[in-house]
Amino acid sequence: MGAVALIDFRSFVKDVPDFPKAGIIFKDITPLLADHKAFQAAISAMAAPFKGRGIELVAGIESRGFLFAASIAGRLSAGVIPIRKKGKLPRKTLCAAYGLEYGIDTLEIHEDAAAKSAVVLVVDDVLATGGTAKASCELIEKVGAKVAGVSFLIELGFLKGREKLAGRDVRAVLSY
Ligand code: AMP
Repeated sequence: MGAVALIDFRSFVKDVPDFPKAGIIFKDITPLLADHKAFQAAISAMAAPFKGRGIELVAGIESRGFLFAASIAGRLSAGVIPIRKKGKLPRKTLCAAYGLEYGIDTLEIHEDAAAKSAVVLVVDDVLATGGTAKASCELIEKVGAKVAGVSFLIELGFLKGREKLAGRDVRAVLSY
């Protein structure tokens, strides 16, 4: 708790206007990733609400979600599941289409990625419009597993992504 409270996470997130297209303010988290103390404190803060919740698997959303999912899984003594863009997973998949803040895409999961009724935490770096996280939760449920919650580093509150995740336990370390 102490280490988390002492870190000013906002100072490690850089706003990049008009990336990847005009009108988007991209939250660049690479300074946070590059700072050992800040990154570890962020991982702890993202994992903390889900400690003792019986999380068996942490699902990371391609690609920045992967950077957080593996470390959070370590904190929660859980395994990791990749949720990937279309065409990347080698075996039979289930898929879900979704709308991004800047585009449309398809996400996939291995159809046998989790045991039926496994308890899964979904992880990504940024909650924007919520389409990506919503599709990811739906994939976990299509596999037959349970979504215990969704953990983000950053929530862009003005985009109301939480509304797409209504009824789910949604946590974010930073809110803008
Ligand atoms: P969304 O589906 O709109 O919630 O978009 C979330 C996904 O897009 C996440 O995987 C983020 O990495 C990425 N993303 C969307 N908007 C931003 C932003 N303003 N800054 C950084 N990443 C973003």
